[in-house]
Amino acid sequence: FAPWNDPEAKPLIQFKQVTKKFGEFVAIDALSLDIFEQEFFALLGPSGCGKTTMMRMLAGFESPSSGSILLAGKDIAPVPPNKRAVNMMFQSYALFPHLSVWDNIAFGLRRGGGSKEEIAARVEEMLRLTRLTKFSRRKPHQISGGQRQRVALARSLAKAPKLLLLDEPLGALDKKLRQDTQFELMDIQEKTGTTFVIVTHDQEEAMTVASRVAVMDEGRLVQVSTPDVIYEAPNSVYVADFIGEVNIIEGATAQEGEAVTITWAEGQQPINARSTLSLSPGQKVHFAIRPEKLTISAERPDDAANAMTGKVLDIAYLGNISTYHVELPSGQVLKAQSANTRRIARRSFTWEDTVWLSWTDTAGVVLEQ
Ligand code: ATP
Repeated sequence: FAPWNDPEAKPLIQFKQVTKKFGEFVAIDALSLDIFEQEFFALLGPSGCGKTTMMRMLAGFESPSSGSILLAGKDIAPVPPNKRAVNMMFQSYALFPHLSVWDNIAFGLRRGGGSKEEIAARVEEMLRLTRLTKFSRRKPHQISGGQRQRVALARSLAKAPKLLLLDEPLGALDKKLRQDTQFELMDIQEKTGTTFVIVTHDQEEAMTVASRVAVMDEGRLVQVSTPDVIYEAPNSVYVADFIGEVNIIEGATAQEGEAVTITWAEGQQPINARSTLSLSPGQKVHFAIRPEKLTISAERPDDAANAMTGKVLDIAYLGNISTYHVELPSGQVLKAQSANTRRIARRSFTWEDTVWLSWTDTAGVVLEQ
């Protein structure tokens, strides 16, 4: 499933050079983006980068200042919000407290003008989809937070929208329930085939549920790709830093084909890396490497492309993994993470220990910006 790689695939949604201004302020800046049918698409970025504005334009609560948004090939500008095949699920769920689960789900359908039997059949189908059949007679205050979330989802899907917008859909749930619900959300998305666009502050959540992720900065897209590419091959320090933990080293390059050497701090070995970028000699670059790509060891490894020694400053034991802060002779501190696969791995190294950090030449990425 990768319609974004298929030149024949027709996008469900197209942003074409969309700009949104509030007065003089540019909230969305000449943004172009395709989202495909059946995608679970996530918008990520810091507060104020324009995620909600994108959703509101899709829903019809805002209109672009210039450019156009197409749904299934048609400009949606003239279509009012209630006539769009788009629904939005809010974080607050906005359930009617005095109505039963059944009636909450039926509410929008009744206004749609179907027969009683059709409405009942659709409600039953939605109850089954969200595993709420046995709670159908209860009121929202008589069910759990997770169940309320599912009622809101059932209600938003009842009219079979082409596109469902989810604004922090799991924001009200605690961490454990949130994780379980993520899988449920993916399952329901897959079963209905509806295109989902989600806004979340939780990067792990975006990485878990999404087929593709867009990382935004000040009304622009910085990188749009699958979660693994965003994580393993970020296109900038901004993206590397925004998603997960990362070590960033600043240096200057020499390149021979794909083999890159990066000289950096005084007295530190140059870093050996690989890159398909065309770099000029001495060009300033950043080298980004995730903590779990560093191997920490007591002895110098024999055959590592990169190995440097340092001193353990801090250790955080997190159960499944431990994170080490290691200070290099240059003064830079690198984070290394190791999996605690065996019991009592907890104190394999301790404060002030001299250790080796090593990694292969493909473990990190060279970034121009
Ligand atoms: P958050 O994660 O905090 O919800 P966001 O990425 O969703 O942020 P938006 O709500 O889309 O950000 O806002 C983008 C920018 O546009 C912000 O700087 C915001 O202050 C501005 N903005 C949004 N709506 C309006 C408005 N109605 N009038 C003026 N400025 C607005």
